[in-house]
Amino acid sequence: MECIFCRIVAGEAPARRVFESEHVLAFEDIHPQAPVHVLVVPKRHVDSLFELDDKTLAGELLFAAAEVARLRSLARGFRVITNARRDGGQEVEHLHLHVVGGRRLGRMLGS
Ligand code: 5GP
Ligand code: ZN
Repeated sequence: MECIFCRIVAGEAPARRVFESEHVLAFEDIHPQAPVHVLVVPKRHVDSLFELDDKTLAGELLFAAAEVARLRSLARGFRVITNARRDGGQEVEHLHLHVVGGRRLGRMLGS
């Protein structure tokens, strides 16, 4: 299996897990851009948001992002981002939501 996030889901690569539900896993980003930076991924491989065709999974992903925000006490505010495909700046080609917070965020994140 080549996809790093599939390997994390399978337990074949290490990650600091934050939250898990039936179809979704959340874990710490390896290069955090803020005090809280957690990635929320579907357990089955989906390339990007462009390929997401499952409304139930879409809801579970967003709900997991909200759970992460609550678990990490982000009541002051946070941001949920997904970079999709090349022009969107996506580097890992397994759909993921970034949950970022713990500091005052600028108007945009990343590149
Ligand atoms: P993208 O640019 O695709 O939206 O973001 C990919 C994110 O995945 C980056 O923030 C990067 O730090 C994170 N990342 C890449 N490889 C790994 C890894 O092996 N483990 C973890 N936990 N995060 C990773
Ligand atoms: Zn994958």
